[in-house]
Amino acid sequence: MNAVVSTTLDRANQSFLEWKSVNVAERVVYLQQVKAKLLANLQEYGKCMTLDMHKPIRQAVAEAEKSARLIDYYIENGEEILKGRTIKTDWTETYTVNDPLGVILGVMPWNFPFWQVFRFAIPAILAGNTVVVKHASNVPLSAKALEECFSIEGFEQVYFNITVSGKEVDAIIESPIIKGVSLTGSEAAGSSVGKKAGELIKPVVLELGGSNAFIVREDVDIDAIIQTAINARFQNTGQSCIAGKRFLIHNSIKQEFTDKLVEAVKLIKFGDLMDHETNIGLMAREDLAVELETIMNDSVKMGAKVLVGGKRDGAKFEPTVITDVTDQMPAFQLETFGPLAVIVGYETFDEAISMSNDSRFGLGVAMFSKDVEYLKSKVHEFDEGAVFINEMVISDPRVPFGGNKFSGIGREMAEEGLLSFVNKKSVVIK
Ligand code: NAP
Repeated sequence: MNAVVSTTLDRANQSFLEWKSVNVAERVVYLQQVKAKLLANLQEYGKCMTLDMHKPIRQAVAEAEKSARLIDYYIENGEEILKGRTIKTDWTETYTVNDPLGVILGVMPWNFPFWQVFRFAIPAILAGNTVVVKHASNVPLSAKALEECFSIEGFEQVYFNITVSGKEVDAIIESPIIKGVSLTGSEAAGSSVGKKAGELIKPVVLELGGSNAFIVREDVDIDAIIQTAINARFQNTGQSCIAGKRFLIHNSIKQEFTDKLVEAVKLIKFGDLMDHETNIGLMAREDLAVELETIMNDSVKMGAKVLVGGKRDGAKFEPTVITDVTDQMPAFQLETFGPLAVIVGYETFDEAISMSNDSRFGLGVAMFSKDVEYLKSKVHEFDEGAVFINEMVISDPRVPFGGNKFSGIGREMAEEGLLSFVNKKSVVIK
């Protein structure tokens, strides 16, 4: 571990010794000030994200605003969640308290450079921990801006940014100062971090990839859901873990749905990323666009058809729809992390469930029908961390978020997120 990182860990640990005894009400005041700073710098922070990873400015500013709403959730609910509970026993008193663990390491991805960090760091800090964040290498402006945003005059420094490569993470987890680790990113990175944390018996939260199905039954009003389908797949230029990546459409409406989706895709506009009208950006890096192109081309070789888009120029990947996809093709089996929608027909709903589950991933599923009771009756059949009915899968601070299978372990946000890095201590008094 390099000397700068080592000194940062020491500082984070020193800071923890102070911060853990600051009462929760005072920690909430700190959160209020972080939120105020975030809102006061929306445009500037948005610009950092756009410059770093090519997110259109309007979406970048919206991401910063959404992060402020997450802080609000914890300002309003944090004290209540952290206070523990009393348990009825035949002792005089039995209850639990939630004590902080210490310095928690966050390893963060580039795709939502602010949101991902806030959703890890805010609850960890509110619980009384301090955090050290290793952000993705391709978002240096955001990483620096975040450290600045979390630095509030009159309060301990509780958020520390470190600039290291993924390869150096194992050595950091090995430090006795690090008491837990949260990683959002790819399966490969998650597996590596999970292995090291497991070896050292340190708590770990892993938020990894997804290949969510977006299932449409035959009774839906297609016009009413097309924009939702577009948002589900193409928001953030398709680079979202919870994007609807595989559209499973009942055969009786597949043609109509496909035609309407293609027409809507043609309206998605590239443009100057700093222009508030632009609604799709470049992909974050050219190598990621090449990876997506390979998945598309390999699937086309196996019989898939490109209906719109399909061209790449550097990191610019046209919004694309492919059809005639089968469960054997890479576009069905792999995570398509970019603006590529995959359409597959199904005959029975059981077939749709089995196709949805036919994936390494299990992050979420969205399904659409007028018959909500029917869909509710199927919830338990999906191997997913979340089931959304008549809504695309979204992340919301009030709702626990996380994956099943190779999509990860643990949960962020809501009560579960705030209790991810605490010592749930039981107290018994005779
Ligand atoms: P990534 O390449 O795995 O990078 C994520 C973070 O892990 C980066 O900080 C990266 O550092 C670091 N890293 C890479 N290899 C590592 C290793 N062997 N050990 C420790 N750290 C390592 O993922 P990404 O390309 O940034 O993000 C895209 C992936 O994240 C997709 O699979 C997406 O689905 C997933 N994701 C999941 C969620 C969720 O909530 N489930 C949310 C967003 C994204 P460097 O940048 O320095 O390599």
